[in-house]
Amino acid sequence: MRDCIFCKIIKGEISGNKAYEDEDVLAVYDIDAKAPVHILILPKKHIKSVMELGSEDAALTAKLFKTAKELATSLELDKKGFRLVVNTGEDGGQSVAHLHMHLLGGRALGWPPG
Ligand code: 5GP
Ligand code: ZN
Repeated sequence: MRDCIFCKIIKGEISGNKAYEDEDVLAVYDIDAKAPVHILILPKKHIKSVMELGSEDAALTAKLFKTAKELATSLELDKKGFRLVVNTGEDGGQSVAHLHMHLLGGRALGWPPG
């Protein structure tokens, strides 16, 4: 997608501070961290949101969770806990229309969100 900021990071057209990469998934540190650890886990395929996930994306979806789990383990967030968030649509607070999972941790997180 030509105007998608996350596709540009995936293609290397703009820089991103990478936490993990393989052929299907890229994880980058959020540019505006909301917690001591704040990583965005992106499918390399341009999918606008959860609402555009199809049955053909089942393995990719599983891989997003697997990546989150492995990053949480390697950063030792698993010991005290962490949060995975997928904002969806306007009321969900989604600001970038390329599916992404937030991995947040490193402090006690409040609930409910605002
Ligand atoms: P959303 O609000 O759509 O759930 O999350 C989008 C996230 O992308 C925000 O947390 C925002 O800080 C982050 N973000 C926006 N532009 C960039 C960028 O150019 N690089 C990185 N690493 N994160 C970005
Ligand atoms: Zn995109």
